[in-house]
Amino acid sequence: MNEYDSDRISDIVKQTGYIKTNNSNNTDCYVLNTCHIREKATEKVYHDIGRLKKNYRNKKKPVVLVTGCVAQAENEEMLKREPYIDAVIGPQSYQNIEKILQDINNKNERLNYTDFDVIEKFDKLNTLKNLNSKVSSFITIQEGCDKFCHFCVVPYTRGSEHSRSPVEIIKEAKNLILNGAAEITLLGQNVNAYNYNFGKKTFKLSDILKELHNLDGLQRIRYTTSHPKDMTKDLIECYKDLPKLMPFLHLPVQTGSNNILKKMNRKHTIEEYLLIIDDLLDIRPEIKFSSDFIVGYPGESDKDFDKTISLIKKVKFINSYSYIYNKRPGTPSAKMKQISNDVQKKRLNELQNLLENYQKTNHKNNINNSLEVLVENKLKNQNKFFGRTKNLTPVIFSNGDANDIGKTISIFIENYNRNSLFGIKKTNDEIAA
Ligand code: SF4
Repeated sequence: MNEYDSDRISDIVKQTGYIKTNNSNNTDCYVLNTCHIREKATEKVYHDIGRLKKNYRNKKKPVVLVTGCVAQAENEEMLKREPYIDAVIGPQSYQNIEKILQDINNKNERLNYTDFDVIEKFDKLNTLKNLNSKVSSFITIQEGCDKFCHFCVVPYTRGSEHSRSPVEIIKEAKNLILNGAAEITLLGQNVNAYNYNFGKKTFKLSDILKELHNLDGLQRIRYTTSHPKDMTKDLIECYKDLPKLMPFLHLPVQTGSNNILKKMNRKHTIEEYLLIIDDLLDIRPEIKFSSDFIVGYPGESDKDFDKTISLIKKVKFINSYSYIYNKRPGTPSAKMKQISNDVQKKRLNELQNLLENYQKTNHKNNINNSLEVLVENKLKNQNKFFGRTKNLTPVIFSNGDANDIGKTISIFIENYNRNSLFGIKKTNDEIAA
């Protein structure tokens, strides 16, 4: 979502005469779009600004804006701690960035814009053309969260759930397709909680997927991130009816223990989670899954952790994110008794080894097979091309050409490493020969 937000910030400031530059040592305005999920990300902001101060010691100071969730969470604190910052702008206020830049330039004052104006933000985004021209593009359709998991800052930094008008989503999708998008990923903190009242009809994520599916030129559709509680029957059915909906689902579970799920306030059980997986596999057996795991959550016993290991063995996730539990200020679990870092590290190590095994096994199973790959771009400074399989696995191949970009082509897989597959473009006749 931050990647999407950064692109939209760039679209807005473009209207005020700024252009995006790769030269961060010689710029008039520096926007740091931030994430607050992990503690490290906050400190990274201050380190980045420290580096910036050094680089501009003998030059005109650029306008420095900190946007995103760190700005939202730290707001005044941040302005106090780092005088080099001109404004902090929360993720629901960046639509005001033109005015903020004017105010800074005119009044020379330091500003705090951290209101939750999500309706105003979506209204502003609707008036702006999304200038992105990537083969694989994002559209934010939903923001915020009402779930209040006990470890998470999102409800406090992004605000409550709010969905965007289906008309505007389809308009943006059509524009992206005209710009060359062949794949669209719908984004939301709780994307499958999407809910928009339009006349007498309530639009859900399944309705948006069906609308998108009708668009000529669009080859692939994805959505992220989903909450198990919102994996409704109508959404699951989409995997039967919509071939453009890719057979890969990121469905965070965090732990394999019902005891810990309860402590986390996740509002579902492992049995319910496994039922969703079964229902999806019944409909489309080729679907693969990924998840997020938090290791060493307060109160996690050896038994709880073993249940997480069992769950991974059962589902065989092909690609997951896993972290040691990280205390976030203001969240209920930050006040709970923490477990020792040594135990957390040991468990993370075991869990990541297992996840890596499944990831590699999945890669290995693709060797000597041809996979459908949507080609996204040529790699910088290399005569190689990059694309992704239906399961979102990165593929690098060497004998492509510029005409392949934006097309789904068959790649014969010859090798792999932990993260990627490597192959060559081959016709079926060539493979048979
Ligand atoms: S559902 Fe996701 S975004 Fe919402 S509180 Fe839980 S972890 Fe955070």
